[in-house]
Amino acid sequence: MEPFVGAVPATESAPVPASTPASAPSTTPIRATPLPVRLLDAALDLLLPAACVGCGVARTQLCPDCRGQLTAAEPLRARPAHPPPGLPEIYAAVRYGDPARQVLLAHKERGALRLAAPLGQALALAVRAAFPATPRQERPLLLVPMPSTTHTTRARGHNPTLRVARAAASALRGAGVPTRVVPALRHARAVADQSGLDAAARQRNLRGALTVHAHRTRLREGHVLVVDDLVTTGASIVEATRALAEAGADVLAGAVVAATQLRD
Ligand SMILES: [Zn+2]
Repeated sequence: MEPFVGAVPATESAPVPASTPASAPSTTPIRATPLPVRLLDAALDLLLPAACVGCGVARTQLCPDCRGQLTAAEPLRARPAHPPPGLPEIYAAVRYGDPARQVLLAHKERGALRLAAPLGQALALAVRAAFPATPRQERPLLLVPMPSTTHTTRARGHNPTLRVARAAASALRGAGVPTRVVPALRHARAVADQSGLDAAARQRNLRGALTVHAHRTRLREGHVLVVDDLVTTGASIVEATRALAEAGADVLAGAVVAATQLRD
């Protein structure tokens, strides 16, 4: 199997049309891989020795070297070029480049679901950097994933950010850190495609786009971190933080697998 080479996603998780009926035309830049093809691919992943999605080496879905690049680095603060007002501290496991880019794309767009585990491990490292929790802490970490629209989730056949957040929570619990995933956010309205928008335009586009639809009480029972697979401008995380704060949650930080720009 060839390593997947896809387009760099131009947007973060939030900028997808919200409340769009599945039958309506969509501006979401989803690669139109038919479901049977994706199912076949997922089945082949199980049956055949795959090539590493990061480097193409045979007989493994993710080779030790690529896995190490994803999970062995010291997480760093993400630093968007023009940090929008209201941006919390965001920690990223790695810089957005290969192999992280290939692993994220294979998981998100090709349904290579087993990659959620290493991606979750990477996210868990970023969470620990954002909030150096102790195993004996009384209040749990609450990971709030950036939401996907129902439409996007249906088109992909799964919700990649939620899946990676769950894998991260599992890794953290395995390390003795009480952690829960709280999928509290959803889209309140449709937003335009973010591609081609600069940071300020993205922020205007996203303002008021997210809302807390569930788990309001639970959000006050722990340390809230917004989690996502990728941060570029930070506009999505600002909007998530705004929505969570409006619901009474105190967002401590953001944590992502990869960031396009990191603090040196
Ligand atoms: Zn590799």
